[in-house]
Amino acid sequence: MTEPIELNETQRETLRAVCDTIVPRVDGEDDPHGHWARAASDGGVDRALELLIAGLPEELAVGLFFLLEVLAAQSFAAASQEERERQLAGLAELSPDAALGVQAYRQLTLLLHYGMPDGSGRSPAWAVLGYPGPLGTPPDEPKVIRPLATSGGELALEADACVVGSGAGGGVVAATLAEAGMRVVVLEAGGYFDQPDFDQLEMTAMRNLFYRGGLATSVEGVALLAGSCLGGGTTVNWTNCVRPNDRVRADWAGAGLEGLDGADFDAHLDAVLTRISATDRCSDLNDPNRRLQEGCESLGWSFERAFRNTDPATYDPASAGYLGFGDATGSKQGTLKTYLADAYEHGARFVVRCRADRVLTRDGRAAGVEATCADGTRVTVRAPRVVVAAGALESPALLLRSGLGGPAAGRGLRIHPVAAVYGVYDSEQRAWWGAPQTGICDEFSNAEDGHGFLVECVQYAPGLIASSLPWRSGRQHKEAMTQLRYASTLIFLIRDRGEGRVTVDAAGEAVHSYRVEDELDRRNFRRGLAALVRIHEAAGARQIHALSRTPMAWRRGEDLDAFIGDLQALPATPEAMPVFSAHQTGSCRMGTDPSTSVAGPWGELHDCPGVWIGDGSAFPSATGINPMVTIMALARRTAFAIRARG
Ligand SMILES: Cc1cc2nc3c(=O)[nH]c(=O)nc-3n(C[C@H](O)[C@H](O)[C@H](O)COP(=O)(O)OP(=O)(O)OC[C@H]3O[C@@H](n4cnc5c(N)ncnc54)[C@H](O)[C@@H]3O)c2cc1C
Repeated sequence: MTEPIELNETQRETLRAVCDTIVPRVDGEDDPHGHWARAASDGGVDRALELLIAGLPEELAVGLFFLLEVLAAQSFAAASQEERERQLAGLAELSPDAALGVQAYRQLTLLLHYGMPDGSGRSPAWAVLGYPGPLGTPPDEPKVIRPLATSGGELALEADACVVGSGAGGGVVAATLAEAGMRVVVLEAGGYFDQPDFDQLEMTAMRNLFYRGGLATSVEGVALLAGSCLGGGTTVNWTNCVRPNDRVRADWAGAGLEGLDGADFDAHLDAVLTRISATDRCSDLNDPNRRLQEGCESLGWSFERAFRNTDPATYDPASAGYLGFGDATGSKQGTLKTYLADAYEHGARFVVRCRADRVLTRDGRAAGVEATCADGTRVTVRAPRVVVAAGALESPALLLRSGLGGPAAGRGLRIHPVAAVYGVYDSEQRAWWGAPQTGICDEFSNAEDGHGFLVECVQYAPGLIASSLPWRSGRQHKEAMTQLRYASTLIFLIRDRGEGRVTVDAAGEAVHSYRVEDELDRRNFRRGLAALVRIHEAAGARQIHALSRTPMAWRRGEDLDAFIGDLQALPATPEAMPVFSAHQTGSCRMGTDPSTSVAGPWGELHDCPGVWIGDGSAFPSATGINPMVTIMALARRTAFAIRARG
């Protein structure tokens, strides 16, 4: 094992100066919240950042710490704020890697300054936002599932089916097979967290529930948000339940997925929606969703109230605003509360913090899975059926490590690229009240050739928002933060035609590559930006801000078309503006041709009978909608096929 990297005193002093350049102490402003007086290091951001960087993959950590050497050689710590801002900008000009490094320092410092609580469980940085933080302590609700104990040695298990991953797809497959009497083992790389662990803090959620601590990006810098815990994405997601449209279903039927366009698949969708209690009775509109509604209605564009997988008996709109950090009320009906509980009740065994390393085969057929737990336990599951449901970012990596899946493994990654624009309104927007996505505008879902975008709202997360705002200077960013309590944020998410790719590095770790480079996707990206701006304007925003890396804003009275034109002139790249993804699919797709698809039309690998794909990676193409329900229904169809095979 390599030793954690230690900073020397000069590097530490430079790191502190970097943090305090990004969030400086600024004198002379009216300061009722202590916002201007508080520098990043006052809350220990520099120490937290040092630990965070030291925990990153070694190559990244060494690169980031090396930048401190470069700055130290320029006496960075002793320079004035203006000079330090100039030095940071100059450093970013040196090379693309240096630019990414400076960007990482900015984003991580802002994330920690505005996201990290102090010893009281709250952050003084929230006062300027009006953000109340956690509403209470987590409830003492018992956890239903008892994962198998591991102790660092060897664990050998026999099963009829081993399911890798416990998210939207894996949860449904595990329950459907267990209910049919199969002995099921579920391996989940993340930990088991439930109501007693959900403290409504962004930082806890990132650490415990999100893939790669919430900091995963593609090599090009697209932020890849995904769940990594028992329940996968369904534990952290925003509970928006959308049925796939007829166009996509017909496309998939055309790709060989029999029954996708008819009653058979309707039955799978209905069963899933019923089990997860999808309802529109718990979809109160919070301020941002209300702005979306007002803007759309004023423009004559579509607006619908979303269905959500929520138990009305425990639904509480005030705490629903935190459900992306894990739902402390237990109202969210993700797989944790539904399918995984069903699987457990029917005898399924669970091993958590357990990462599947490779699929075992014998005579060209599935024979089981080899896995390693975080505590070092080596797990071997002997099973004639293996269901790969590790999510579209990891399922192909498991196949590639196992030498399975053929030439299409890892290709076809779709991510539903997302960009955001916020409007500043006259009244406080209290975006942390109410479920995040209770309204949808699908006016542009078919902008061109079956492709387009949805407009929706987002979960309030102070660190993520602060780190996504443009930063040109410490003062400018602080000024922008003073406006945020009046801000509502809208996003678009594109049904992407273009695709990215998942590969593995020398250590077998997944590497993701994605660029918005398809011409149709770029056109929709530009259309999306225009739509967000027009909705804000129609809803009465007095200012509209892009999340462009260089601050760009429109103020009422200014030329809106010119502003839209300027925004659309920016490239759809993370260098120009943050590009996010919360919907990864398609990297082990189903189809009939083994040269372009990994699995056949019922989900079984072309090149290895007994290995099945049971998650969103099986999608033949992007759906253009929030994908949880489609993933679950497709997984149910696959599980029925496994059962039918016997
Ligand atoms: C912030 C956020 C908000 C979202 N909001 C919505 C929404 O409102 N509506 C909607 O429809 N969709 C939403 N989504 C998307 C949706 O949650 C995902 O598309 C869905 O959960 C993906 O399902 P999956 O089964 O493909 O993978 P996941 O649910 O991601 O599950 C994969 C699981 O596999 C585990 N795993 C990975 N590698 C291994 C390994 N080698 N061994 C063992 N286990 C492994 C992971 O830890 C993870 O738990 C959201 C997603 C995010 C991140």
